[in-house]
Amino acid sequence: MMDARRIKKIKDMARNLAPETVDIRRRLHARPELAWREIETSGYVERRLAELGLTDIKRGFGGTESGVTAEIRGSQAGPCVALRADMDALPVREENDVPYRSQNEGTMHACGHDGHVAILLSAAKILASMSPELPGRVRLIFQPAEETGLPSGAAEMIEEGVLDGVDSIGGLHLWSFVETGKVQWRAGPVMASSDRLSVTIRGRGGHGAMPHAAVDPTVAAASCIGAVQTITSREIDPIDTAVVSIGKISAGDTFNVIPDSVGIMGSLRSFNPDVRGKMEERLRRIACGIASAYRCTAETEVTYMLPCVVNDPGVTNLLKETALAVVGPDMTEESPPLMVSEDFGAYLERVPGTFFFVGAGNKSKGADHPHHSPRFNIDEDALAEGAAMMASFALAAMENPRG
Ligand SMILES: [Zn+2]
Ligand SMILES: [Zn+2]
Repeated sequence: MMDARRIKKIKDMARNLAPETVDIRRRLHARPELAWREIETSGYVERRLAELGLTDIKRGFGGTESGVTAEIRGSQAGPCVALRADMDALPVREENDVPYRSQNEGTMHACGHDGHVAILLSAAKILASMSPELPGRVRLIFQPAEETGLPSGAAEMIEEGVLDGVDSIGGLHLWSFVETGKVQWRAGPVMASSDRLSVTIRGRGGHGAMPHAAVDPTVAAASCIGAVQTITSREIDPIDTAVVSIGKISAGDTFNVIPDSVGIMGSLRSFNPDVRGKMEERLRRIACGIASAYRCTAETEVTYMLPCVVNDPGVTNLLKETALAVVGPDMTEESPPLMVSEDFGAYLERVPGTFFFVGAGNKSKGADHPHHSPRFNIDEDALAEGAAMMASFALAAMENPRG
């Protein structure tokens, strides 16, 4: 059960910190940095954490100066709860005419990660001020390179031990598709995995007039592209979801020469780690079988990029209880599953935790453009709510790390 008095205290603190949280977000928004180059951002985060009196601050991951971690220790020994914010911007030219517009031309915080950093810094300030009464520890993770896929900031930080000793983890995304004030949770799979497929079909090139003297890989490739769609339509339970999309086909140089080989690249997405795990075998079987029917050979490769985001039911229930206490039942709802991806799934493969959504959409403020759009913006009222949610969740998870 959430302690109503403590929740009220956290909400009051988050409200008092709101102007400061907005300032931090605007400052970061004006100085966006791309994946693995979040140097100024990391320096800023490091200074703010030092101001809170945190001493065990670690900076620099993946051989870069990006990424910061720190810990807030309560007076009592207890579980360690991690809170994560991602910090990277996108190669997008901002089209918003706002005073805090991006000063780094061609780079923009078009996904809301500036808000995530501001939220976590304010949640840290709230939790640090409560440290005498915390029943455990909070590990703050300011992560680089969420958007790039390979190598993902999450995977790199995990490799360097950021989850050592962590009992559970929480993270959020500001969400412009949901109105400000709402908090969305979902137990189980919530976001899809995203992997890259490549198929090379080899034949033997020749004259376009004499196909019988060549082994044409283009016809095999055409069949293969159609047939891989049967992975989703014929091999996967219709209740499960997966997507195979071919994004690139390359072959040949001119119209009257049969090429030696065809390269195909595409995207594989699914919700269920089991479904994901079987995609590679299916792709290989279909591509190789079809290639051989056409006297060609096929080589397939799947590059695993981002796992599914699978929320732990117990920790998600705790998050839901937190949301009910912080924003109330009218503003709390279950999220639909989303086909987009997030590298937060990498943390959830190792420790139980939950990834949730804080509504930041508000048409009257122009905050109704999709994420990654050059007109993307958030309703900044969501920042104080995000900070209250993160701090309250950390407290609840320290008391009950498995939910
Ligand atoms: Zn994004
Ligand atoms: Zn994002």
